Amino acid sequence: MRSLPCFCRGQVVRGFGRGSKDLGIPTANFPESVVDNLPADISTGIYYGWARMDNGDIHKMVMSIGWNPYYKNTKKSMETHVIHTFKEDFYGQILSVAMVGYIRPERGFKSLVTHGCVFLPDELIAAIHSDIEEAKIKLDLPEHLKLKEQHFFKTPVSTTANQILNGHRL
Ligand code: ADP
Ligand code: MG
Repeated sequence: MRSLPCFCRGQVVRGFGRGSKDLGIPTANFPESVVDNLPADISTGIYYGWARMDNGDIHKMVMSIGWNPYYKNTKKSMETHVIHTFKEDFYGQILSVAMVGYIRPERGFKSLVTHGCVFLPDELIAAIHSDIEEAKIKLDLPEHLKLKEQHFFKTPVSTTANQILNGHRL
């Protein structure tokens, strides 16, 4: 994918409350304004990369880009699971991510909702955990580690919310 690494920034909004947090895999959602501006060659699926909340530390992440059931699958969603344990939720904060590599096509993070209950098959949970392990290993490669030093992660975030910056233009 030509657009990788892809740098995105936006405020964390509420998702559709699919209860992924209860399963130990919370996913922070980007607003539509960020999703709508993704480069055209970024396809749906699971990505790995770096994430930072507001002006905090940079952590490893996995991201699912998929079709948003709330809009009858006509709109995409971008959901980031930060590989770090936070003391509190961070709705409303600015999430900055560098999408670095692609793991696999969409299948992950998608849950079946039946009569208001969330159903995630064990197989799917195992797949997500294996995505997380793959992300951890790949991100330790020198060419990926150096992305943490990008100007994008050094600047204070407040004035630059809701952006997509193609890495090649930075
Ligand atoms: P929602 O449907 O609102 O996205 P989730 O169950 O997916 O709810 O939980 C996502 C929220 O959990 C995020 O918006 C964030 O505030 C919080 N959160 C806490 N820890 C993490 C983490 N490690 N990665 C992503 N989100 C996290
Ligand atoms: Mg979520």
